[in-house]
Amino acid sequence: MLQYKKLSKTYPDGTEALKEVSFEVEKGDFLVIIGLSGSGKSTLLRCTNRLIDPTSGEILWNGEDIASLTQNQLRPVRRKIGMVFQQFNLVKRLSVLYNVLSGRLGYMDNWKSLTYRFSKEDKDKAMKALERVGLTKQAWKRASELSGGQQQRVGIARALMQEPEIILADEPVASLDPVLAHTILGYLEKLNKEDGITVICSLHYLDLVQRYATRVIGLRDGRVVYRGTGEDIRNMT
Ligand code: ADP
Ligand code: ADP
Repeated sequence: MLQYKKLSKTYPDGTEALKEVSFEVEKGDFLVIIGLSGSGKSTLLRCTNRLIDPTSGEILWNGEDIASLTQNQLRPVRRKIGMVFQQFNLVKRLSVLYNVLSGRLGYMDNWKSLTYRFSKEDKDKAMKALERVGLTKQAWKRASELSGGQQQRVGIARALMQEPEIILADEPVASLDPVLAHTILGYLEKLNKEDGITVICSLHYLDLVQRYATRVIGLRDGRVVYRGTGEDIRNMT
């Protein structure tokens, strides 16, 4: 489904964050990228929806190379890729519902939702997305009134507004306690299994990796140092 071919990213300061990274993602995978802080996980995820531009290499999807698309060509691609962030990235003084609705406008245009007039259909869709993560009662609360775990569920609902084929989750549970980590990953697993959404998620705890991953990529210093299945990891321990 997605094919990364010799993807490299060198930041302007010379940091080589990704060095010829190659691997494949199958439709329906719950692919976990594991690696220490600084190994390139976030850079890899951000290249995938072109929040940042890779330096060289390809990301093939449906016959197109995401890495070489122009900004205009990127729009329809980004519309099918939802993103969930470690720090949730909500607009905290806005309502939960508006944060979810902002997903309708694309991957990071939270602020536009202040002036954009959403349709009744959009609002119904946002309420449905909140229902998927069990937060309909919180729709009219400010995002700042919610707990961290609830805020991340809003982040997932916002990604769902795009009706994504892929959800990219960048350390989605790194700022949550272990119990909440399972709750959040459980929601991502549900969307993966029930809705067939392909999930690409970075994590750094092996116990979480073996519980949720169908496929695993290990990164160290920007290189792929491990490839395996969730089964491989489970059989190791
Ligand atoms: P991870 O998500 O695994 O923690 P990152 O992709 O954030 O890894 O970082 C990979 C490497 O790239 C690190 O050395 C990091 O310091 C560096 N890096 C990340 N973002 C930038 C940036 N904007 N400019 C320069 N270096 C960066
Ligand atoms: P994470 O660990 O979640 O990837 P960081 O705290 O490392 O996030 O980085 C936060 C922001 O700072 C990101 O936008 C990243 O690109 C940028 N960044 C990270 N490392 C560097 C660096 N060495 N130089 C410049 N920017 C960086």
